[in-house]
Amino acid sequence: MAHLITPIPPLYQVKEIIENESRCLEYLQDLSVLPRTMTCIYCNNPEMNFDDKELTFNCGKRECRKRISIFNGTIFSKAKLKCNQIMELSYFWLSKATRKQLNIYTNIAPANITRWTQIFRTIITQEIRISETKIGGPDIIVEIDESLFHKNRQNKMEQLWVFGGIERTKEKQIFAQICKDRTADTLLDLIQKYVHPGSIIYSDMFKSYNQIYSCLGIRHHQINHSQGMTMIDYNETSNKLKIYHTNNI
Ligand SMILES: [Zn+2]
Repeated sequence: MAHLITPIPPLYQVKEIIENESRCLEYLQDLSVLPRTMTCIYCNNPEMNFDDKELTFNCGKRECRKRISIFNGTIFSKAKLKCNQIMELSYFWLSKATRKQLNIYTNIAPANITRWTQIFRTIITQEIRISETKIGGPDIIVEIDESLFHKNRQNKMEQLWVFGGIERTKEKQIFAQICKDRTADTLLDLIQKYVHPGSIIYSDMFKSYNQIYSCLGIRHHQINHSQGMTMIDYNETSNKLKIYHTNNI
């Protein structure tokens, strides 16, 4: 799980980014917040041209000529402020500057400051909610499994399914939840609730897991236990085989 407590860098280190729009664009592209290339969503032309004045990707196909803003689908989209101004405001806001200070440092109108700090607050709250309830994360492997438990309740044996997952990380974060059954509906709901969408899920061949990718869009490998408890991954770039032991499943 990514820790949210990242130190705020000193001003001199971010000065260029918050003062200069094109430097800020580069920075956001380095973080993959903004795209470097874009495929035309209208005609599938994979090579749109970037217009660094309008900050749009333009389709060069004569019959199309569509333009798509580089900010499309991000918080910067349709903003009246430039992206570096928004970054500047977020920097001072994260540094706990007062509203008065924000207005003095950035020269942004108070009404705009209110609007943007509300957006920042919403983003951070969502981020915290995700990291509090979910395990895994971008490219983190999460092994999932269900187990049947027997519980003696008032001299009656009760069956109890427990569905759980464990991260293949040093922290080995887990989730576990009692569930009423093992249907795809139940298990997919729990996966959506507890597993970060960027994770890679490893499971056994149980059929309720078949739709993890198609329904939730989470990458998924199914491991056939009858063929041993290991999983082999082939890395094309390094031409190496990597053997994973799936003892946790
Ligand atoms: Zn096009």
